[in-house]
Amino acid sequence: MRVVIAQMKHETNTFSPVPTPLARFGGDGELPLEGGDAYQAYKGTGSAIAAFIELAEEAGAEIVLPVAANAWPSGPVEDNAFEYIVGRICAAVADGCDAVLLDLHGAMVTASHEDGEGELLRRLRAIAPRVPIGVALDMHTNLFAGMADRATVIAGYQTYPHVDMFETGLRAGRVVFAMLAGRAQPALAWGNRPMLPHVMRQGSDDSPNRELQARCKEMELQGALCASVFVGFPNADVSQAGLSAVVVTDGDPERARRWCDELLDMAWAAREQFVYRPEPLADSLARAQVLRAGLREGDGPVVLLDHSDNCASGGTMDTMTVLGGILDAGLDNVAAFAICDPGAVQLMMHAGIGAELRLSLGGKLDMPAIGLKREPRSVKGRVRLICDGRYRNRGPMARGEVNHMGPTAVLDTGQVEIVVISRHVEPHDLAAFQAVGIDPASKRYLMLKSRVHWRAGLRSLAGAVVECAGTGVCTSDYAALPFRHVRRPIYPLDPL
Ligand SMILES: [Zn+2]
Repeated sequence: MRVVIAQMKHETNTFSPVPTPLARFGGDGELPLEGGDAYQAYKGTGSAIAAFIELAEEAGAEIVLPVAANAWPSGPVEDNAFEYIVGRICAAVADGCDAVLLDLHGAMVTASHEDGEGELLRRLRAIAPRVPIGVALDMHTNLFAGMADRATVIAGYQTYPHVDMFETGLRAGRVVFAMLAGRAQPALAWGNRPMLPHVMRQGSDDSPNRELQARCKEMELQGALCASVFVGFPNADVSQAGLSAVVVTDGDPERARRWCDELLDMAWAAREQFVYRPEPLADSLARAQVLRAGLREGDGPVVLLDHSDNCASGGTMDTMTVLGGILDAGLDNVAAFAICDPGAVQLMMHAGIGAELRLSLGGKLDMPAIGLKREPRSVKGRVRLICDGRYRNRGPMARGEVNHMGPTAVLDTGQVEIVVISRHVEPHDLAAFQAVGIDPASKRYLMLKSRVHWRAGLRSLAGAVVECAGTGVCTSDYAALPFRHVRRPIYPLDPL
């Protein structure tokens, strides 16, 4: 038995000015991993592709691993990058196989295709019309017919923060291997509702997504092979952005349809709870100081979430609005993770550890899609640390995977320790702070460029949490995003 296992993951923020060339899909700026290198990098980690490898080995299958391509979210994927990745997967399938297992994101937009994954599936079906294709997807999938009608099995993450990537791979992969053994006949139903749930309201510890995901798990206990609700990725101006669901049953298309509709109706009824209303930044920072005053020293920091500039939603990770507000408000004993500014890191490396210098920090990219100009800020401080920016996640999210921040430095202003990095990484793991010698628990405040994923590895440290509306292409204000392509009417852009 020969099984093709591949990964192609990118969440595209169509408003982002950050380019997405092929090099972004290689963790350290090289080509995406393949073959033995990809196997070594992912085997035993908390990823969906690791689950596929484990299942294939259990089945005694020959594994072909043409590419493992995973890039941090950014603007539309360049055509040559997409063609390289898809070309490798298609070539492996064309050589002949018994099944295909794909670790995809589900919200990839390329320069030429608004549904990158659908285009991959279209090409695979042209080569292998009847081979079982099992797909693991991110909960932020914007699902199109192009993929849903061509995949044999689809399973999506049931947690946000995403701490069940491995389990999602198992859910999709087990059905495919059962099918190969003649023990399952997957029947897939999918659908959507015209709604754009807000990312800040999508956490699976919070209502209403908690109940939606619990119902998916319950359906799987009641006999569904896979049940998934995709809350969607709204910072993508594509026709099918928004909420969808997929249910796979064993040979019972009517039950799959009924369950899928039940999930969609549940989500639609809860649409108002998915709306997010941002608070003005000055109010948030004032509230943070009041919260801090009510905490004891050992209670952990007040976490300040700069949710409009999260690189894991396509943010440039260099807007200075929230950090500037923190400096102006006089908050002290703060750690800020992070500002992505490779040029500033080079200046700090040149100056050396212990050097005092004034930098024009952050604000290096214009954001034409949302009408914002770059706005760096002059910051003075001392270089406290310089390192290579490499660390391995402790988990629970993406456990065991290696992150590459590139050359990294810490600038201590006396008020804030600012981590300055050269490649995008969202702070969702304690190891990110350990890599730069900061103990986040000892800080009075912790500024994170994150929305929900920080909860995975850092939530337990927080004394309090304040969401801070800054600026950026993952703004939490839908009114700041010029939607042109998403289907209308859609809630809450339109009052349905
Ligand atoms: Zn996601």
